[in-house]
Amino acid sequence: MDISLLTPEKDPMGQAIAEYFEKGKASRLRVFSSQFEEDEIPVHQLFRSTKQMPTIERTALELAYGRILDVGAGAGCHAIALQEKGKDVYAIDISPLAVETMLKRGVRKAMQINLFDEHFCESFDTIMMLMNGSGIVGRLENLPAFFQRMKQLLCPEGCILMDSSDLRYIYEEEDGSFAIDLAAGYYGEVDFKMQYKNIVGNPFNWLYIDFQTLSYYAAEYGFKAELLKEGEHYDYLARLTLG
Ligand code: SAH
Repeated sequence: MDISLLTPEKDPMGQAIAEYFEKGKASRLRVFSSQFEEDEIPVHQLFRSTKQMPTIERTALELAYGRILDVGAGAGCHAIALQEKGKDVYAIDISPLAVETMLKRGVRKAMQINLFDEHFCESFDTIMMLMNGSGIVGRLENLPAFFQRMKQLLCPEGCILMDSSDLRYIYEEEDGSFAIDLAAGYYGEVDFKMQYKNIVGNPFNWLYIDFQTLSYYAAEYGFKAELLKEGEHYDYLARLTLG
C-alpha cells in the first residue's frame, strides 16, 4: 500500500481548503479522470454543517461512539460536528493543508497521517470514512490490505462506518440494461487528478464499491457488512464489524 503523505506543492485540495478557510471563498477545484468529463468539487461543500449533510452522513454521526477515527477528514466537517456533540474524535488526513486548517478550525486532534502507515497504531471503537469513504482503498485488490489494517486499528467490538456509491448507473443503457465491460476490471475503480489554480496533484486511484461486492470481500476477510441506509442516488452507508 502507498503510505506517502502529500506536500503543499502537490496538495490542490488542501490549498483550496486553506484558501476557503482564510478568505471565505475559493477558486475552482478541478477534477480530471480518464473515465469521466472534467468536473469540479464545490469547495464550500467540504465545510458543510450537520444540517447541510446528506442523511447518510448524519446517520453515521449519530452511530459513531467511543474513540472515533475520522479517516480522510478533509476540512474537518464531521470531526467538528462530533466534537460539538462532546465526542472523542481523532482526525487524520494525508493533506498537510487540510490538517493545518482543521487545527485552526478547532479540531483538537488532527494529524497528518496516512491510514495505511502502520507506525500509527492506536485503537478505535468507530472508524469513519465518509464522502465516498471507500475511495481511500483505491482499488479492489487493496481490500485485503485494508481489512488487515482495520483489524489493527479497531477494538474487538468496534465498527467501520463507510459510505460509497454503486457506479453502475453510469453504464446504464436506455433500456435499463448495463453496458459494463467485464474484462476491463471492476467498474468502480476510477483514476483522478485534481488541480487548484496552478497546483496539480499526482494522479490517484479511488474506489467506488457497490454494497454486494463490499460484503463479499468483507466476509472473505472476517468482517460482516450491514447496509444501514441508502441515499438518493445509488449511494449508501455501510457498517462493517468483525464477524
Ligand atoms: N471526509 C471529508 C473529505 C473527503 S475528501 C469530507 O467528507 O468532507 C477525501 C480526503 O481523504 C482528502 O482530504 C484526502 O487528502 C484524504 N486521503 C486520501 N487518502 C488518504 C489516506 N491514505 N489516509 C488518510 N487520508 C487520506
